[in-house]
Amino acid sequence: MQKSTQAIHTKYPRQDAYGALAMPVYHCLAYEFPDHQTMIDSFTQVSDDPDYSRVTNPTVIHFERIIRQLSGGADVVAFTSGMAAISAAVMAVVSAGKRIVTSRHLFGNTYLLLTRTLARFGVETVLVDLTDLDAVRDAVDDKTCCIYLETVTNPQMEVADIRALADIAHSAGAALLADTTMVPFIYTDSRALGIDVEILSSTKYLSGGATSLGGIVIDYGTYPGVGEALRKDILMNLGGYMTPHAAYMQTLGLETLATRYEAQEANALNVARVLDGRGDIEVCYPGLPSNPYHTLAREQFGGRFGAMLTLTLPSKEACFRFIDELQLVRRATNLFDNKTLAIHPASTIFGTLDDATREAMDVSDRLIRLSIGLEAPEDILADLNRALDKALAPD
Ligand code: PLP
Repeated sequence: MQKSTQAIHTKYPRQDAYGALAMPVYHCLAYEFPDHQTMIDSFTQVSDDPDYSRVTNPTVIHFERIIRQLSGGADVVAFTSGMAAISAAVMAVVSAGKRIVTSRHLFGNTYLLLTRTLARFGVETVLVDLTDLDAVRDAVDDKTCCIYLETVTNPQMEVADIRALADIAHSAGAALLADTTMVPFIYTDSRALGIDVEILSSTKYLSGGATSLGGIVIDYGTYPGVGEALRKDILMNLGGYMTPHAAYMQTLGLETLATRYEAQEANALNVARVLDGRGDIEVCYPGLPSNPYHTLAREQFGGRFGAMLTLTLPSKEACFRFIDELQLVRRATNLFDNKTLAIHPASTIFGTLDDATREAMDVSDRLIRLSIGLEAPEDILADLNRALDKALAPD
């Protein structure tokens, strides 16, 4: 069965009393048991009967189960946000005195989690160019517990060789953790790429048009101890489990994921081609054959490139003029909303970092990030081209 069909037709494990066709939203916290033994079995995880909605809930379990089937993961845990999922996944493999090897090209809060928050707990994070495999080999030592990467970095749009990084991690006894928010699990074979733990912000493509926050951790069962630590330690002791309402929204989002993803991607490719053809700005989109990561991205991500692209304009002032001139495209953060969104990352998402850090992360103040939506292609292009013409016009 194709994944798009499976996403729609995965049945929930128990027949609903009313035969509800959609998974009901179980807005309950506690669950009642017929006797002491079923109660003990639930609390000691001998059975998978839910006991308390901080750690398990039927609506969330259903969502997790569909993702497990689509991804081939050994276990899937859904969290309240992408950041909660990233912290949980990293904490499941790291401990004081260990090293994380990663890149400067990371989503801002992930960068701060690894370099600032975890540093307070005695974890060392080493930043290297993950596209330079010799530099990665030099950085990985016997204290290294994981290599952490984003499969398409936000907003630098860099793509590293995931299989090669997995081999380096595994030969040092470390895990490969990958944030796959840009190209989700329905298109990639993460296990074959050597990813041990996959994380994504389901706020983005999965949520179905910015309906809810969420984060997913997929444990492929290939790195010892992660599954145990994730469910029995991190989730129970730190909390952060997805809410039943978000799971309901995101289950609906999952049903239309492939259709939306492919339509948004077609719009993004069209925008990238047309804006690239203007010749007065730089367009970065891995779907363009001229992009340095095009071939690697195509091979790794099943021919998918997503709907995020960046524009480099001649100056920061031109970027601000462009943002102010937009009429249809919304001035907002987030990715993969149904609406096309534009943001100037250096002054917003990365706005609290100092200039040196921002420069080291290659977040130029001449960069605009676009997330292309589901509008008619001619409407998106008309607004972008008009705003660019105004922004680039001589004073
Ligand atoms: N990972 C990536 C690549 C992101 O772009 C984001 C948010 O923009 C996150 C993680 C964090 O996700 P959330 O906002 O759901 O916490």
